[in-house]
Amino acid sequence: MGIKVCKFGGTSMADGNIILRAAQIVQSDKDRRFVVVSAPGKRFNGDIKVTDLLYKCADALDAGDSSLFEETFDKISTRFLNIERELEKDVGMQAGLNQVKAEMLGGAGRDYCASRGEYFAAKIMAAVLNVPFVDATEFVRFKEDGSLDENTFALGAKTLAKYDRAVVPGFYGLGADGKVRTFSRGGGDISGAIVARSVKASLYENWTDVSGFYACDPRIVSNPKWISYLSYQELRELSYMGANVLHSESIFPVRSAGIPIRICNTFCPDDAGTYIVKTCTPDSKDTVVTGIAGKKGFTAITLEKSMMNAEVGFVEKVLSVIGKHGISFEHLPSGIDTMSLVIDNEYLKNGVLKVLVEEMREAVNPDRIYAHENIALIATVGHGMAKNVGTSARLFKALSEAGINVNLIDQGSSELNIIVGVENDDYVACIKAIYDEFFR
Ligand code: ASP
Repeated sequence: MGIKVCKFGGTSMADGNIILRAAQIVQSDKDRRFVVVSAPGKRFNGDIKVTDLLYKCADALDAGDSSLFEETFDKISTRFLNIERELEKDVGMQAGLNQVKAEMLGGAGRDYCASRGEYFAAKIMAAVLNVPFVDATEFVRFKEDGSLDENTFALGAKTLAKYDRAVVPGFYGLGADGKVRTFSRGGGDISGAIVARSVKASLYENWTDVSGFYACDPRIVSNPKWISYLSYQELRELSYMGANVLHSESIFPVRSAGIPIRICNTFCPDDAGTYIVKTCTPDSKDTVVTGIAGKKGFTAITLEKSMMNAEVGFVEKVLSVIGKHGISFEHLPSGIDTMSLVIDNEYLKNGVLKVLVEEMREAVNPDRIYAHENIALIATVGHGMAKNVGTSARLFKALSEAGINVNLIDQGSSELNIIVGVENDDYVACIKAIYDEFFR
């Protein structure tokens, strides 16, 4: 086979023993030549991830709280020094920590602080595997707006071609201003995909603490169906809507190169895992729905106006209101005389919702405008839906039989998903009803 890139998440890097386990996985297959790591995650319930501690350090510095900074930095130091001791490797941890602390105190910035968990984790993994450490700042580049610079892949190919094997820290790279910059949380998955594309890997293995994807959240339905294959697009829809196994943007680097992703479990390495592939999944021949995922905490702002359909620029004016506030929307279901904007509640705190409603009223003079808060969105996803007549009829019948009121509906034009908005309180019942209809 060709090159395999392995990315180990935080739970696979949590302490010395687990890191050894991850290293053994790498060493058990000579094709596993490039390794990307996250910062050490939780070791037990109630434990704190190193990245969270690092953000706490940055917050303490911002607030000028030096005792909180010292206390938090000590916790991070203890964790890394313990790991170094457990593994009996000398990576110069104490000197490295001293230097990082000085940089933080010297104003290196929030992203720099957050990135150091991955940095030290990669130093340790490189020592355990006895392969070179290659810093992500050598090739992962961000544009000024924070998005990934496409030059990253060519630069990654050139940089990594010098190595037969290497360990790379995930989660960060270099910003357009020459400073360390991070992805959004969980972004180590994107780093792994970047390395996979750069070295033209035949497989991107993402090692985590679950053996892949279930058809829905096992905390809601016990023993849900296992998903052995997913398409990139199905993965994107499901992870964006809350299936929390892989970062929803990790498919972009590998999709165009057609590199499959395999989700694997560090704690059950023999499990088959879930494969994420380019084309329609083998399962989908006889499966209507591949998976169900959802999230709570949205608001729908609905505008009603007679003859809205004939008013040129109506939607544009409404969207310019949220654009001005730097807010993006999730969905925009519309009818001839109505439209709704579904927005994540995160954007609407501290009176922002009221301001938006007022500004929209002024911008388009609607007959009626109102906000429906506490909405949960549930996506039913699967390529199989396009080929099977009556899927939406089955879905809505199941919801009506379960007594669930649907507040809004949005079906993507790709016929890959049907999204329904229900009251937050109906979230669990809604997922159960859809699961029972399509999987039992
Ligand atoms: N350590 C980072 C986080 O906790 C990135 C990652 O794990 O992928 O979000």
